[in-house]
Amino acid sequence: MKAEFIGLYGGTFDPIHLGHLTAASDVQKSIDLDEVRMILSSIPPHRDQPVLSTKDRFSLLTMALKNEPKLCADSGEMEREGPSYMVDTLKGYRKEKPDCSLVLILGMEAFNGLMSWRCWEKLIDLAHIVVTDRAGFHNEMEKTLAGYFQPHLTKEKSQLKQLTHGKIYVQSVSPVAVSATDIRRRIANKEPVRHMLTNGCWEMMQENGFYTH
Ligand code: ATP
Repeated sequence: MKAEFIGLYGGTFDPIHLGHLTAASDVQKSIDLDEVRMILSSIPPHRDQPVLSTKDRFSLLTMALKNEPKLCADSGEMEREGPSYMVDTLKGYRKEKPDCSLVLILGMEAFNGLMSWRCWEKLIDLAHIVVTDRAGFHNEMEKTLAGYFQPHLTKEKSQLKQLTHGKIYVQSVSPVAVSATDIRRRIANKEPVRHMLTNGCWEMMQENGFYTH
């Protein structure tokens, strides 16, 4: 049986938007991942706590992925108690799928903040990392991190499938200058957000009055 090749895309998804979907889908196609698991960070440890409940964010995530056969919603971090540390998620995957090639997908600004993550040096022993650019952000790799990860950087994406973990590859994606913060701010100011979301998510947000109070 052929070993699996799985992408892991973590986020607070407060709410999931077209920037997330475009980046995940572009990486899936470019690297030819079997699937990308969109992991909802239930209690994000490195930032302000989300506005919407875990349940509502997961409903939006599931709705957003309805027509995305290669992207699927992952509730793994919701089922664990306490802060949602990515290192614990990767350890869980590694235990369950020892021979699988795992690819953690991060936007450049998230990657540049990696040193504040719990056990960040261990991540590369558990998975590859694919770093995408993000429209509207500074897309240079931070120098200390680039130095630390120098031996892991590769320009050959085929290595990601050949090895189970340990490589870092930079992948450009179609620019979509959207952030969840901006969506929340626009809703508070009664500005349009429909173009930043899937239709299903927009409708669900309208029906439930998400972010309006
Ligand atoms: P917030 O504005 O609330 O901080 P966000 O829009 O940045 O949210 P997150 O859920 O924090 O979204 O992001 C999860 C991941 O998605 C990160 O790796 C981030 O780099 C990536 N990401 C978010 N928005 C985009 C985008 N527009 N283009 C590419 N990557 C994105």
